[in-house]
Amino acid sequence: MRRIPVSLAVAVTATVALCCGGGGLVVAAGTMTGGSPNKPRTQNASTQCGTAANIPTVKRDTPKVAGFNARQIENAATIVKVGQDLEVPPRGWIIAVATAMQESSLDNLGHLGEDNDHDSLGLFQQRPSQGWGTPEQVRDPVYASKKFYQALLKVPDWQTMPLTRAAQTVQRSAYPDAYAKHEPKATEIVDKITGGASKTAVTAQVAGRCAKPDEVTSGGWVRPVDAPVGSGYRTAERPDHQGVDLSTRRGVPVRAAAAGTVIHMECDKAEIGYNCDRDGSPSTPGCGWYLDIRHSGNWVTRYCHLLRKPLVGTGDKVTAGQQIGLLGTSGHSSGPHLHFEVHKNGGRTKATAINPVKFMADRGAPLGEGKRA
Ligand SMILES: [Zn+2]
Repeated sequence: MRRIPVSLAVAVTATVALCCGGGGLVVAAGTMTGGSPNKPRTQNASTQCGTAANIPTVKRDTPKVAGFNARQIENAATIVKVGQDLEVPPRGWIIAVATAMQESSLDNLGHLGEDNDHDSLGLFQQRPSQGWGTPEQVRDPVYASKKFYQALLKVPDWQTMPLTRAAQTVQRSAYPDAYAKHEPKATEIVDKITGGASKTAVTAQVAGRCAKPDEVTSGGWVRPVDAPVGSGYRTAERPDHQGVDLSTRRGVPVRAAAAGTVIHMECDKAEIGYNCDRDGSPSTPGCGWYLDIRHSGNWVTRYCHLLRKPLVGTGDKVTAGQQIGLLGTSGHSSGPHLHFEVHKNGGRTKATAINPVKFMADRGAPLGEGKRA
């Protein structure tokens, strides 16, 4: 079934001369508004990528995280600190905290009597009978964290695979997808404890080295294309523009902004007889070749106006930074650019669209050009 909202979101501006376009005109128009929404906010992101200094014990100054008490956050801090002491890169800290959230809600669980799952104990619900250690050992948060990290480091490509798969490989859980839902909160907790370590480059060994523009962050995000932000999100001129336009050369790779699953891919044929394989125009309606990816945390990213049929289809799993297509100008478009949207709550409509510039800057993967420190 064709989804009307896509066409509406993009095509409603068809009467505006400078619609979805690349080139200097659009950039100039964006500048003229004096609008901050169009300006990439690289400044903020560069200063908060965690610290390589020793993470303090947080007993006296436990950060506040909604939904968690001080004891739970202290347990998270212990997990992070052990990771740092073992020189596990920050991506591992997020995976470990998300795993403990799923296994124990960050509570160092003792034996729960009849409710206990086999002989599972402690923050990671490790089982003495499976060789994780004695019951006393696995209830020691430092020991338990150490054992988790040792197992994680043996998983090939753990830093680039989806968090839930890395966690599942270590835990051998009966619920392999259960860890994914904890990723955003685990990221938030690690950031509060470390001052933004999720923005450290995923390849960095220590916290504090911000991801470069085309590197994936430890939180698992990367900008989808190397291009300046042209026409912005819901500007005065285009209040129904639900994303941003990233304008650059035709044919450059477009990449998945984070790991996830493609939930929709099609040629948005709002005009009869248009197959998306030729360039669109300001009078062509629709998104052209486009796709939507759902990420953990139920975020959805959308990529419009691709040059050809995307390299991935509905149901495919993608990793962060994986090439998904080529930048083009199919559909409602006046020049080569990527129209990029971010949606919350798993949505795909106007009601769920949020500002991609802010969203990506907050994750240490700001849109737009420019080097970060
Ligand atoms: Zn656009």
